[in-house]
Amino acid sequence: MVVERINFLKDEINKHNYLYYVEDNPSIDDYTYDMMFAELKKLEEEHPLLKTPDSPTQRVGSVSEKFESYRHKYRLYSLDNTYDAEELTKWYERVKKELPAGSHPALDCELKIDGLAMALTYEKGVFVRGVTRGDGITGEDITNNLKTVKTIPLKLFEDVSIEVRGEIYMPKSSFFKLNEENKQNGEKIFANPRNAASGSVRQLDSTITAKRDLAFFAYAVIFEDAPNAPDNHYDALMYLKKLGFNVNPNIRLCKDIKGAIDYCNEWEDKRHNLDYATDGVVIKVNNFGYQGTLGYTARAPKWATAFKFPPEEVQTKLLNIENSVGKTGAITPVAILEPVFFAGSTVGRASLYNYEEIKRLDVRVGDTVVIKKAAEIIPKVVKVIDDGHHNERPVFTPPEQCPSCGGPVTTKENEVNLYCLNPNCKEKEIAKLVFFTSSAGMDMDNVGENLIKTLYEQKFIKTIPDLYRLTEKDLMQLDSIREKAAQNIYNGIQNSKKNPLNKLLTALSIRNVGKETAEILALEYGSIDNIMNTTSSELSKAANIGVIIADSVTEYFKNRKNRQMIEELKELGVNMTQDLSDRSDKLKGKSFVLTGTLKSMSREQAEEKIKRMGGKASSSISKKTSYLVLGENPGSKLEKAQKFGVMILTEDEFMSMLNDTQE
Ligand code: NAD
Repeated sequence: MVVERINFLKDEINKHNYLYYVEDNPSIDDYTYDMMFAELKKLEEEHPLLKTPDSPTQRVGSVSEKFESYRHKYRLYSLDNTYDAEELTKWYERVKKELPAGSHPALDCELKIDGLAMALTYEKGVFVRGVTRGDGITGEDITNNLKTVKTIPLKLFEDVSIEVRGEIYMPKSSFFKLNEENKQNGEKIFANPRNAASGSVRQLDSTITAKRDLAFFAYAVIFEDAPNAPDNHYDALMYLKKLGFNVNPNIRLCKDIKGAIDYCNEWEDKRHNLDYATDGVVIKVNNFGYQGTLGYTARAPKWATAFKFPPEEVQTKLLNIENSVGKTGAITPVAILEPVFFAGSTVGRASLYNYEEIKRLDVRVGDTVVIKKAAEIIPKVVKVIDDGHHNERPVFTPPEQCPSCGGPVTTKENEVNLYCLNPNCKEKEIAKLVFFTSSAGMDMDNVGENLIKTLYEQKFIKTIPDLYRLTEKDLMQLDSIREKAAQNIYNGIQNSKKNPLNKLLTALSIRNVGKETAEILALEYGSIDNIMNTTSSELSKAANIGVIIADSVTEYFKNRKNRQMIEELKELGVNMTQDLSDRSDKLKGKSFVLTGTLKSMSREQAEEKIKRMGGKASSSISKKTSYLVLGENPGSKLEKAQKFGVMILTEDEFMSMLNDTQE
C-alpha cells in the first residue's frame, strides 16, 4: 500500500517536473504539487528503506537538452518550504540546536521571486557566463540570451571575480501584455509569469528573448576574488547593489523568527501591489559562518527555508452537484469535491451560488475545477479546467421539483434562485431550526446540525418553540446521548432564552433581515411588541432601513402562524426585549472600522458599543469611513485608510471618545 503510494507520487511528481521545468507548461497548480511533494517526503521519512536516490525529494529541478549543458562550478540548491508559520518556529529551533549554545542567529527576509534561478559568472568584473539552475549540478548555458536582459550588468563597478545567483522574472504587466499578444497571434499562452520568464529566457533565438521584457534580481553571491567581501548575507546584498546589480528593495534583517513571521504576514497582502509575482518569503540565516556550520541536505540548504503564501485558488475534481434547500426555501447547487487541503482546512464542498452560475461556468460533474476562498469563509468554484473530456460530460440540468419534498419549485421576480413552495418542506424546516440554534442565531451551546436533524427525524421537534420544550429525558432517548450530554444540551438551549432581542430577530430567519438589520431594529424599538405593532412606512423611516426590508418585517409579523409562534416563545420564557440603558445618538453619522487586536475589549464588544451609540461599524475601509481604530498588529486596512485620508484613532483615543460621549 505504502510502496504503491510512494511509487504513484514519484511518477506523478516526475511527470509534473518535466511539464514545469522542461516544457514550461504545468498542468497542475503549485500548491497541489507541493502537497504531493510534502506527502512523499513524509512517507519516505516514515519508511526510510523506501527512500531511493532517484526520488524527486533527493533532487533539484530538471534539465532539458535544448541548450548546451554546463556543469556548475558550485552546486545550486532548491529550498525547503512550508505553508505553515508554526513550522518556521520549529525550523528556527532546529537551526539554533545545530549552532553553538546560546546563538541567536539573525535572519534575512526576502521576497521569494517567482521566476527561475540563474548562476552568473563574472571574471574581473566582466560577465562571462549565465547558466540556468537545471538539476543543480548541470544547467543550460544561455549566456547570449541573458546578455539581452537589461538588469544584468555586463560590466561591474569593481573588477571582482564572483558568481552571482538570482532570479530572472517577467513583470506582471509584461506577462499580461505578452499573453494578450500571443492570444491574438494564436501563439502559446503562458500559465503564469514564471513560465513566461522561463519560456522567454530559454529561446534558441536570442532576438526573441531581447523582445521579451525580462528583469533580474540578485539574491546571493559566491566570492572568488573580491577583496571587500563581507562576512554576512545582508552586507553581501548591499555590496551587490554597489557593484551594479538590481537587489530587491524589500529585504529586511530580523533579530529572530518572530520578526520573520511578522514580515511574512505583512507581505501576504502587500505583495499584490507589486508588479512582479512572489510566491512566498525566503528566510536565510544571515551570518556566513553559521551558514557553513549548518550546511545542506541533498536538495536544500539547512540555513534557509521558504514560507509559501497560502494559495488563493486550488484545483480539484467535482464529484457531484447537490441541490440543497435553505431556510427560505431557496434551492442552491452545492459542489461536492474531491477533498483538498486548502488555506488551513480540508475542503470537500464549495458554493456554486445558483443555476445561472452553473450555466455561466458550464461546469459539469467530473470536471477539474478551480476553487477559491470567498470572503475567507466558504470556498466557491470559479472556473473549469478543460482536461480534454469536458465536452463529453453531460450538461447539468437544474431540478424541476424540490429535491427534499418533491413539491413544485418556482423563481421569484428579479431573482435567479429556485424556491420550494411547500411551507412544510422537511429540509426547509430543518434548515430554519439549524440556523435558529447556530452561532449566527441564538448561539445554543452543544447544539449542532446533526443533533437537530436527529431530533427532527425522530419527531421530537418540528417548530422553533419545540426546542424549548425539550426535556433532558427526551434527549436521553437518542442513542448516543447520556445524562451528562443531555444536561449540557438542555442548558445550552435554556440559556439562550436570555439572549437580547437582536439575536432572536436574526435567528427567526425573517426574509431580508440579517445581523445588521436585526441590531438596528432591536436598538430602535427595544421590544418585539413595538416592532410588531409598527407599520412598514414607520419602520422604514424610524430605523432608516429600506422599504423592501421594512415590508418583509411587517409581512412576517402579519402572518398568523408567526405571531402565534412568538406568543409561544414568550410563554416559554424567551426574552423579547433589548437593554437600551446605555443607548445614545452620540456617534450618529460616524462610521468606524477596526483593525488589529484591542487590549481592552474584543472587536465584537467594540462594535456593539459603537452601534449602541448610534454609530456604524463596518469591516472594510472606504472613502466614507470616519475613523480607523488601530489595535495591535494592524492589517492592510491601515495602509488603505492612509490612502483615503481616513482619520486614525489609537485604542486610547477611541476609548476616550466612547467615554466622553457616554457622559
Ligand atoms: P522553489 O521555487 O520552491 O524554491 C527555490 C527557488 O526559489 C530558488 O531556486 C530560486 O530560484 C527561488 N528564489 C526566489 N527568490 C529567492 C530569494 N530571494 N532567495 C533565494 N531563492 C529565491 O523551488 P524549485 O526547486 O525551484 O521549484 C519547486 C517548486 O516549483 C515547487 O515547490 C512548486 O511550487 C513548483 N513546481 C510546480 C510544478 C507544477 O506542476 N505546478 C512542478 C514542479 C515544480
